[in-house]
Amino acid sequence: MPEDLQLLIDGEWRDGSGPLLRSVNPAHPHETVAEGATATGAEVERAVTAAAAAADGWRRTPHHDRGAILARAAVALRTEADAFGVELSREEGKLAAEGIGEVRRAAQILDFFAAEANREAGELYASPRAGESIVVSRHPVGVVGVVTPFNFPIAIPAWKIAPALSYGNTVVWKPASVVPLLAQRLARALTDAGLPDGVLNLVVGAGSLGQAIVEHPLVDAVTFTGSTTVGRSLIAACGAVAKPIQAELGGKNAAIVLADADLPAAIDDVVAGAFRASGQRCTATSRLIVQADVADQVMEGIRARIESMVLGDPTTAGTDVGPVITGDARDSIAAAVRAAGSGTRLLTAGDLLPDIDAGHYVRPTLVEVSDTRDPLWTDEIFGPVLAVTRVPDADTALRLANDSPFGLSCALFTSDLAVTLHAMAELRVGVLHINSETGGADPHVPFGGTKASAFGPKEQGRAARDFFTSMRTVYLQGRR
Ligand code: NAP
Ligand code: MG
Repeated sequence: MPEDLQLLIDGEWRDGSGPLLRSVNPAHPHETVAEGATATGAEVERAVTAAAAAADGWRRTPHHDRGAILARAAVALRTEADAFGVELSREEGKLAAEGIGEVRRAAQILDFFAAEANREAGELYASPRAGESIVVSRHPVGVVGVVTPFNFPIAIPAWKIAPALSYGNTVVWKPASVVPLLAQRLARALTDAGLPDGVLNLVVGAGSLGQAIVEHPLVDAVTFTGSTTVGRSLIAACGAVAKPIQAELGGKNAAIVLADADLPAAIDDVVAGAFRASGQRCTATSRLIVQADVADQVMEGIRARIESMVLGDPTTAGTDVGPVITGDARDSIAAAVRAAGSGTRLLTAGDLLPDIDAGHYVRPTLVEVSDTRDPLWTDEIFGPVLAVTRVPDADTALRLANDSPFGLSCALFTSDLAVTLHAMAELRVGVLHINSETGGADPHVPFGGTKASAFGPKEQGRAARDFFTSMRTVYLQGRR
């Protein structure tokens, strides 16, 4: 039986009045995971109005009380991690173990932002005037519109919603249409933990609802993660009215393997970086730059690993790679591989689109690219496709890694300290891994890209404060 989907508006779980939405299992597309009616424009309006009405009460609630609610929700998520993780796997397609890990990660994020109540809340400066101090205090920005992508259905929402709530904002959230169940699980954990009515509102439905939230005059700030195309349109809409927006966008992340690296470890990490979650991570490795001396060895190592991977149902033990999110995603990934120019060489064998229970599968694929202007090298594919090219030396490798409009994550595999230090200074990315794969983000440190991969302040860690609070500078003269 499919799970019931509902909206959360002003503390009330209710059926939407819009068209029916079914989320399906990408491994078995005939299986409905959850279904329910979507929100209408009128319901978005009610959700935003409720968030605006709840803003003063929530902002005046002691930070410790707000944090306690997040901490209780974290306990609930941990308790349900196995069940929710399998649901995540059925709705999104990543391996069940990864789904369970992601639910636990969401709990960790809630705990981190719960503990923000215990940390310093502002700054005190000396004044050039006698009898005066200058206090810089932090305040909520108000109503935050949250629009999230499909690929981390609970962790990404958690790392936006937890800081929004902890710092005293209220939220209207539109999750990706293909993963509404996990959105409902997170929102339920928070309301069951005692979140007051209207503080978090969940509207499920098409992208146009997201746009309505973003453009609503009562929405004070917007945090978005998703594709560069949608993100740029929202950045433009916010720019037109000077509304702050934080956007985490696409990537084309490079891994660099130099000849002095620990090659077996580098091969393991490149394979994990490229193919975990079927390559549908914003930080996935999609370009491999390998020093020519070891290129054949590294490519052969990766090819052999790919050949041994088991594709199939992500909730079944022994599966290495699950499906991609939709039939459209599968087709566009395949089209990108098939459109590759004449300078490319397919290094893996087998059907690109294997037929397994009619699921949306794409076989992990390794392609050697000689012309780095090929779209396979330049464009985000968001699937299990790794493009590889050879370079003569470390300097060329770093230059090529930077030669991309994107700048989210990069991995460098080397044992050379001088090259490492040079890379730390030169690579224009938001996240740099030395001797580990491009994916992975800890909740207590900043996360986010640079160049076309992001816009606005970083997410997670204390950096999240910069977006979810506004600063007030108070000149405090006590003498007169
Ligand atoms: P997407 O298609 O851009 O969708 C993201 C969200 O925006 C969804 O909730 C979507 O709703 C909504 N949306 C679509 N059109 C909209 C519009 N006109 N106005 C407002 N909202 C709209 O992205 P996705 O396919 O879910 O996720 C994959 C992309 O996200 C990749 O490009 C990936 O690199 C990026 N990503 C980046 C990061 C990062 O941290 N940099 C992390 C994860 C993913 P519907 O689902 O209803 O269409
Ligand atoms: Mg999409």
